[in-house]
Amino acid sequence: MNVVIIGAGVAGLTTAMLLSKQPGYNIVVAAKHMPGDYDIEYASPWAGANYMPVSVSGTEAAKWDKDTWGPLADLGKNHPEAGVHFQDCEIHSRDKDLGSATADWFAELLSPNPWFSKVVPNFRSLPKESLGPGINSATVFTSVCINTAIYLPWLVSQCLANGVIFKRSIFKHINDAALPDVHPHGKVDLVVNCTGLMASKLGGVEDKSVVPARGQIVIVRNEAGKMLDVSGTDDGDEEACYVMTRAAGGGTVLGGSYQKGNWESQPDPNLAIRIMKRAVSMYPALTDGKGIEHLDVIRHGVGLRPVREGGTRIEKERIDGLWVVHNYGAGGAGYQLLYGCAKATVELVEEALGARPKL
Ligand code: FAD
Repeated sequence: MNVVIIGAGVAGLTTAMLLSKQPGYNIVVAAKHMPGDYDIEYASPWAGANYMPVSVSGTEAAKWDKDTWGPLADLGKNHPEAGVHFQDCEIHSRDKDLGSATADWFAELLSPNPWFSKVVPNFRSLPKESLGPGINSATVFTSVCINTAIYLPWLVSQCLANGVIFKRSIFKHINDAALPDVHPHGKVDLVVNCTGLMASKLGGVEDKSVVPARGQIVIVRNEAGKMLDVSGTDDGDEEACYVMTRAAGGGTVLGGSYQKGNWESQPDPNLAIRIMKRAVSMYPALTDGKGIEHLDVIRHGVGLRPVREGGTRIEKERIDGLWVVHNYGAGGAGYQLLYGCAKATVELVEEALGARPKL
């Protein structure tokens, strides 16, 4: 069967990797952006990225998150070349954030007893006397942090080893991915749509319920040694505060923002200052207590999370007679549910083409 996967973000690459392990598929990954590119239409390189589930217990998203922990932990333990390492993840909660946009989004994460406490290792609450000023409660667990600059090329290598073909293409309409010049093996049997935020503009899909949630970050050379996140900031609902050190010299990511509907690609210098101030105030050890002047900045960045009303779309449909399976709209969780979503996508591909999944 000849399959074209549109998109070389974490969704497209993980789907290609899993599908290429199944017998009988000739796979082409065709995309405007590939690992190594940095662009506002390409979310994957900008992610932290860590495993910090915000999905609600009992939902499909929680199942995808749960299914993803095992494979990520396996990479952390057994495959250092993938650029995934273990770090403690501390979640701080402030009573004053109750009811704010971030606290609502983080509701499960902030719970003293979330569903994932039985999935990740070493989940526990921190004693009150150990908490910093303004923090009312906190939990900690072992998580992973992914260096996207290593992990995305690693996914490409895994795919290449399994015979996947990569090419640069820009499609105006989803059916263009089935045109005769796209797949070297001939007629395309199915197209997988992993176009992220741009699913909102791709002809034949144009899903207007996918919108950007702008995330601005600062990457610094200072090491954090653990990941930290807090339920809100004093700078408004659209701003966030988190710190994570990427594996294998990837630097420390300071975040951030969650600006819905905002497509601005350039870093806002005022926001950058607030991000650095909040990070150092939450974790003074970042600069040995010496303030933000002692942050050693590698780069400022902006990425757009592909947020979809109703969550990630994993669905099959026929568009003008062509089988299409969708996997887009993971919002701020594209890495932590990558395996679960890709596995569900592969199952739909096999279903559409009349084969049984063997994952
Ligand atoms: P993308 O990475 O955007 O890839 C889309 C692909 O489709 C690209 O290759 C693009 O070129 C291609 N494409 C689109 N349209 C066309 C077209 N018409 N023709 C050809 N090609 C096309 N997630 C986590 O799990 N943990 C985190 O800690 C985390 N932190 C984040 C921090 C920030 C600042 C941001 C911005 C995101 C973060 N995320 C995190 C979210 C995560 O990055 C996204 O959910 C994920 O990268 C989405 O991947 P994707 O493959 O769906 O889309």
